[in-house]
Amino acid sequence: MTSTAPSPVANIGVVGLAVMGSNLARNLASREGNTVAVYNRSWEKTETLITEHPEAGFVATKDYTEFAAALQKPRTALIMVQAGRGTDAVIDELVQVFEPGDIIVDGGNALFADTIRREAAVRATGINFVGAGISGGEEGALNGPSIMPGGSAEAWVTLKPILESIAAVAEGEPCVTHVGTDGAGHFVKMIHNGIEYADMQLIAEGYDLLRRVGGLTPAEIADVFAEWNTGELESYLIEITAEVLRQVDATTGKPLVDVILDQAGAKGTGAWTVQTALDLGVPVSGIAEAVFARSLSSNPTQRAAAASLPAGAEEWQVADRDAFIEDVRRALYASKIIAYSQGFDAIVAGAQQYEWDIKKGEIARIWRAGCIIRARFLNHITEAYASDPDLVALITAPYFADAVASALPAWRRVVAGSALAGIPAPAFASSLAYYDGLRAERLPAALVQGQRDFFGAHTYKRVDREGTFHTLWSGDRSEISAEDTH
Ligand code: NAP
Repeated sequence: MTSTAPSPVANIGVVGLAVMGSNLARNLASREGNTVAVYNRSWEKTETLITEHPEAGFVATKDYTEFAAALQKPRTALIMVQAGRGTDAVIDELVQVFEPGDIIVDGGNALFADTIRREAAVRATGINFVGAGISGGEEGALNGPSIMPGGSAEAWVTLKPILESIAAVAEGEPCVTHVGTDGAGHFVKMIHNGIEYADMQLIAEGYDLLRRVGGLTPAEIADVFAEWNTGELESYLIEITAEVLRQVDATTGKPLVDVILDQAGAKGTGAWTVQTALDLGVPVSGIAEAVFARSLSSNPTQRAAAASLPAGAEEWQVADRDAFIEDVRRALYASKIIAYSQGFDAIVAGAQQYEWDIKKGEIARIWRAGCIIRARFLNHITEAYASDPDLVALITAPYFADAVASALPAWRRVVAGSALAGIPAPAFASSLAYYDGLRAERLPAALVQGQRDFFGAHTYKRVDREGTFHTLWSGDRSEISAEDTH
């Protein structure tokens, strides 16, 4: 039964009742033992929610004082408002009406650096602040998202049963874990989204090749993806891609994909991943190419100006269509492994930089259901980190090394063929180049070091002697120890 009485009857509250907040509130209310207080800045959203869902027994509140009064102590509030200024505005209000020991959870898509700042500021008041990444979109929010909470271990004790009750379930386990302190949860959610960008771009490149080289129609490609979804590529994104490709436009009768403008939007979490990885010095090249591919697509002026430039391409003759489809599938799987490997490298580097004790296997475990990148092969990531918690690179784990090795001839054919045919496959190509770079015994970085020393006296190290060296590049060109020059 819906009540407006502000007595402390609710064990959790939700602030922000747009699509995500209202669905999470309904999810919370549907779990035994939960009574949910709700508040939204404008009353209309609150009214709509309580009117449409009387079965949820929401405790509707009209201001922050009522909201706080409706919550049992220690109070727990989940904020689901527009990330950025909206989140700060709500926190400012909540700290006025909450008390030390209470818990504020920000479930929005916050930048992890903002979460670190907010956590420190709120902690100073004695109130706990938890930045929690939540993935799964509106459907996940209602039926079970993947949840990545950061914050203190003390707050986790209170939050654990509540979040476990609403999270997605994979093989009987809830897709939520305490990721680490302060911004760790939002950091991991950011990387999740970066991997999501790469996954989507790789699928799009595979589709493009099947269509332009293989000559398949969108409906036929939908069948191919549906088939792939029964094997090692099984994932939510492959599944929905088949559905997107099968969709026919009601107005024109054409495949819907052909009437959608080919300019991909972005909300920023992919760019955050790449910016953060640049700061940390982690090559997330597959993810970066995916972000840049969206930027390139969204520049119609440059694209129009370049449209008449020559291709200088060769026709790609496909003799065996089934073999070609299998090549694309293998290239996609190998590139996907690279994207995840790079994403986990960024998690490792972030954990070192910010002193978070992040269990990599646990992250893969909570991504198995509820979130956008949920995929069958995440079990292999959990297994890889279980057998070696200090694994230096995911692609060196036996399962992934074998998977990539068996895909290599196909992967190279696809990348080389794309280049010769003038078809852009930036994520496939950069993933392969990353793989070759990482496994190379010797890299041309030695020459770069020589160039740096030439123009900037940046010094270099040698393969055969300890020390730091600088060469007098003009004159007698003999190297001297850098220490000798200072
Ligand atoms: P949204 O469109 O991002 O935000 C709208 C909500 O924010 C409304 O309830 C609005 O209140 C409130 N709001 C904005 N500024 C405010 C302020 N200064 N003070 C108080 N409230 C304010 O909503 P959403 O799509 O449901 O997303 C909520 C959060 O979840 C966001 O951080 C989003 O990035 C994150 N998220 C979204 C998805 C998704 O699939 N949509 C998935 C994961 C995470 P009014 O009604 O009064 O305007």
